[in-house]
Amino acid sequence: MGDQSNAGYVQETELEAREINAVIEIGRLPDMAFVIAAICFIFSLSGLSQHETARRGNLFGIIGMSLAVVAALLKMGLDDSPAASAAHIDSGSILYTVGWILLPASLIVGTGVGVFLATRVEMTDMPQLVAILHSFVGLAAVLVGFNSHLDLSHHFSEMSVEATIHQVEVYLGVFIGALTFTGSIIAWGKLQGVIGSKPLMLPGRHVMNVVALLICLGLGIVFVRGGLNDWTIYPLLACTLIAFVIGAHLVMAIGGADMPVVVSMLNSYSGWAAAATGFMLNNDLLIVTGALVGSSGAILSYIMCRAMNRSFVSVILGGFGVESGTMASASGEDLTYQETSTLETAESLLNASEVIIVPGYGMAVAQAQHPVREITEILIANGTKVRFAIHPVAGRLPGHMNVLLAESRVPYDIVLEMDEINEDFPDTNVVLVIGANDIVNPGALDDPSSPIYQMPVLHAWESSEVVILKRSMATGYSGIDNPLFYKDNSLMLFGDAKASIDGILNELRNRLA
Ligand code: NDP
Repeated sequence: MGDQSNAGYVQETELEAREINAVIEIGRLPDMAFVIAAICFIFSLSGLSQHETARRGNLFGIIGMSLAVVAALLKMGLDDSPAASAAHIDSGSILYTVGWILLPASLIVGTGVGVFLATRVEMTDMPQLVAILHSFVGLAAVLVGFNSHLDLSHHFSEMSVEATIHQVEVYLGVFIGALTFTGSIIAWGKLQGVIGSKPLMLPGRHVMNVVALLICLGLGIVFVRGGLNDWTIYPLLACTLIAFVIGAHLVMAIGGADMPVVVSMLNSYSGWAAAATGFMLNNDLLIVTGALVGSSGAILSYIMCRAMNRSFVSVILGGFGVESGTMASASGEDLTYQETSTLETAESLLNASEVIIVPGYGMAVAQAQHPVREITEILIANGTKVRFAIHPVAGRLPGHMNVLLAESRVPYDIVLEMDEINEDFPDTNVVLVIGANDIVNPGALDDPSSPIYQMPVLHAWESSEVVILKRSMATGYSGIDNPLFYKDNSLMLFGDAKASIDGILNELRNRLA
């Protein structure tokens, strides 16, 4: 009898152990999915670094993010206390139910907004979109930080090393998040044209920034030392407000020509803010993803700074691309420029043996890349050597021109980076500058008074003839006049770039028919 009951007990225990093991195995699923998602993100970044593999990179990103969302939901479900465990809500309560309704509702709304924006936003408006999305990451870090702090006493009954580390995470997360939030909103305003691109140069601005940072440091010490006391919310609030001001002020002080670095810099900040959120929420995937975004943004900022011959510190401190003035008023003499027509341009192109095309922001606005590719094909078929010269900050996004040319199926091997082609301009017969301005400004090389002095540019003026396609004599993004337009070998072809390119294409077809 005793043996039977013993055997039954052993069987039951084995069964329970198996059930527990099964639950543990299922419980590990989200963590395994997080690891796979993190690997997908790494493959995504590596794919996005080359034109040829960019699509694959995007696909890995989509798979990784889908896995991450599903795994996060699964984790919450398996915890048997979704947000409830963090917020200490009873699983039978109304708040618990509301949480589960809000979650899919916000997923549906977020997906809807994302799809709407992705299908509607123009390529030329992408930097603004990226900037505003960075602001969301910053705001999320601030909100999660406050939530995490208010929840502190539920996690820790007394101040321990873990609690102190948690306090530091919260403070750093809120500080970086707040700075990213306002900085990104100002960047959005500047890129959208709502705020002027001219830098705001307040007297004593560096001192103001340093004082603000020191106050935040002091508040941080008070906050962490305050432990679990309720009043610690006040130093956190004060730090948030000061960081809001620092973020806005830092970006306000940066001039037009430095905006590419600002966008990548804010990208990096948003990554670190996400990583800090990951620490607060104890979410490994968020930490890894945040670190990936933070470090890749920092590397991109470094590459952009190098491309513009600027030090990272001087970009952060701002003040580049200050004033715009007219060429005539700057030099005191009346500078003249020469105009040309689509017919004359087509003739020059047909007579040329070497042509370089320099695309810029105006080509993107006019969406002229497709007829540009057709012109390229006609000229190559006619025996002309045609290549594209890409400046690292051409357009309004890193890689903007490469994307446009790839979209219109221009072969990769004739699309060259600035360093690869800059020495070839003297041997070139015709350079077509399509909607580009700042990136072909010779003042960057020979005018020490130019605000973009020492920024590397494409040496278009060294060729025999330069045809510049734009609508007027207006300045580019940095608001600086361009001496190239007044050179003896420069010809202005005024009009919308698409209309001008279509005109040249028609002339070429007529000539070769
Ligand atoms: P620019 O902004 O210097 O010049 C673009 C030119 O295109 C303008 O002068 C404009 O002249 C002309 N243009 C605009 N629309 C049309 C149109 N429909 N048809 C024909 N021409 C048009 O562009 P670049 O590409 O030369 O330089 C990029 C600038 O943007 C740099 O200053 C860079 O620092 C900055 N920037 C770059 C970012 C990046 O990541 N790449 C991000 C943020 C800023 P007009 O009005 O007379 O037609």
